[in-house]
Amino acid sequence: MRNLKTIKFSESALEQMAQVTQADSMSAKALWTQTVPLKWKPLLDSQTIGIDDPLNSVYVWDASSRRYVHLRSKHYVSFQDIRSQAVEPLVVRSKQLQRAISQQLQSGAMTLAEWQIQMISNIKQTELAAALAANGGEQNTSEADKKKVAAAILLLLLFFKTFAEDIEAGTQALNGSLLARSDLYAGSARSIFEETQRVGMAVNFGEVEERRVLGVAEHCHSDGELDGCVELADRFWSPINTLPPLGKTPCRANCKCHFTYRYRGENGDWVMVDDSRSIAKLLIGLGIK
Ligand SMILES: [Zn+2]
Repeated sequence: MRNLKTIKFSESALEQMAQVTQADSMSAKALWTQTVPLKWKPLLDSQTIGIDDPLNSVYVWDASSRRYVHLRSKHYVSFQDIRSQAVEPLVVRSKQLQRAISQQLQSGAMTLAEWQIQMISNIKQTELAAALAANGGEQNTSEADKKKVAAAILLLLLFFKTFAEDIEAGTQALNGSLLARSDLYAGSARSIFEETQRVGMAVNFGEVEERRVLGVAEHCHSDGELDGCVELADRFWSPINTLPPLGKTPCRANCKCHFTYRYRGENGDWVMVDDSRSIAKLLIGLGIK
């Protein structure tokens, strides 16, 4: 007889599970290094310019511009490159891992309770890895930052609670729709990557505007309930934190869009937040060869 009984986590238990501990950071980093292409593996272990001396990590974090620098070449790293070359493979890998877990539930090799525990663990690792990548790596992620990440994870765990309850109640069948529904949780890594960056921009640059830019994908349109990616991109510049986050569009967690930012410069003009692979003059100023 198949065991389809959920563990009834209370809201405070889920809140507890969403907290980011040292051990969580370790397992998120392990998932990251197992998943992303070679060149991106050291990203989450970046040191901080102006704090660490000597600098010897592959990437270093420039907190003043909230950007990574590739130390040896002294070139800034493009966030768009991290998103497309590392976060997207992370999403793909997590989908595979979560599908493998769900297939065990389908075949009866795993109980619903075991499935819950394993899915929650993978969801958390995936989200945290994406958040650390957007935030300068583990060392540059403060306790306050971790609280914000925990809040985003909690939101997903609350959705996930309903998912598990639907399986128990029989309203979620153990067919292909189970796998499709579980894919959304891996896809949420895109959203947390963009949101973590957005929080950082608002804190770092004062008066900031944001713009949604369409990715290379099929684009969704407004559906009467939610604004579509096409309509949001057409709005051009808006004050920061006024456009809906990634995922709050009809395309949900499949969204390939990203945000760009501009801030008010000293002479009152808008300055684009740079995402180019320009040389980090900051490092040369510090006399780093
Ligand atoms: Zn989109």
